[in-house]
Amino acid sequence: MQVAIDGPAGAGKSTIAKKLAGEAGYIYVDTGAMYRAMALYLIRCGIAPDDRAGIEEACEKADISIKYADGEQQVILNGENVNGLIRTQEVSNMASVSSADPKVREKLVVLQQKLAASADVVMDGRDIGTKVLPEAEVKIYLTASTGVRAKRRYDEMTAKGETCNLEEIEKEIAERDERDMNREISPLKQAEDAVLVDTSYMGIDEVVEAINSIIADKTGK
Ligand code: C5P
Repeated sequence: MQVAIDGPAGAGKSTIAKKLAGEAGYIYVDTGAMYRAMALYLIRCGIAPDDRAGIEEACEKADISIKYADGEQQVILNGENVNGLIRTQEVSNMASVSSADPKVREKLVVLQQKLAASADVVMDGRDIGTKVLPEAEVKIYLTASTGVRAKRRYDEMTAKGETCNLEEIEKEIAERDERDMNREISPLKQAEDAVLVDTSYMGIDEVVEAINSIIADKTGK
C-alpha cells in the first residue's frame, strides 16, 4: 500500500503523514529530510548553492540512508545521525536549491523507491505522486494559503524559543514555492489523480479524518 502526499512547505504534510502512518501501521518516509541531509553535506563541503558542478561532484560522496528509532525516521549521512541538524534555515534554503539538481534527485529517488518496495508506506514530498510512486493507490495534494503556512512555521519556531519574523518567513516560503514549482525536473504539482486537500481552515484531526475517508473510498478498506 502506498499513500503519496505532496504539497508546498508548511502545508502540514509531515504531521499528517506521521499520524496516518502511525494509525495504519505503515512506515512514514519524509523525503524532504533526505534532501535536507544532502544539503547539510553540501554546506559542510563549503559548496555554494549556485555551484552546480560542485553539487554534482559532491553529491556522489554523500551516503544517505534511513533507519527507524521509536517509530521516528532517522536520517543517516555518511554514518552520522543528522536528524537534529537538518531543520535550520540555512539547510532549508540550500535544500530548496540543491534539490533542483538532477543528480541529487536521481540518487534520492532510488532510495525512496526502495523503501516503498520494502513495506506499506505513507511518503511525503513534492514529487511523490508524480514521479517517485506514480502507481500509488492514494495520492493527496495537501496545501494551505501562504499566509497560513507562514504563521504555522512562525508559531512552531516561537514555541521552540527561536526569534523569528513572520514577514521574513512568508517571503522565504514564497521563494521556496517558486523554486519547487518552476524547476525543470519533477516540479511540485498536483498529480492528475491526486485529491486536493486545503488545510487552511482545518485542524490536524480533521485533515487526518478527511484523508482516511479518501483512503477508504479509493481502496474500499
Ligand atoms: O519538505 P521539506 O521542507 O523538508 O523539504 C526540503 C526541501 O527539499 C524542499 O524545499 C524541496 O525543495 C525539496 N524536496 C524536493 N522533493 C521532495 C521533498 C523535498 O524537492 N520529494
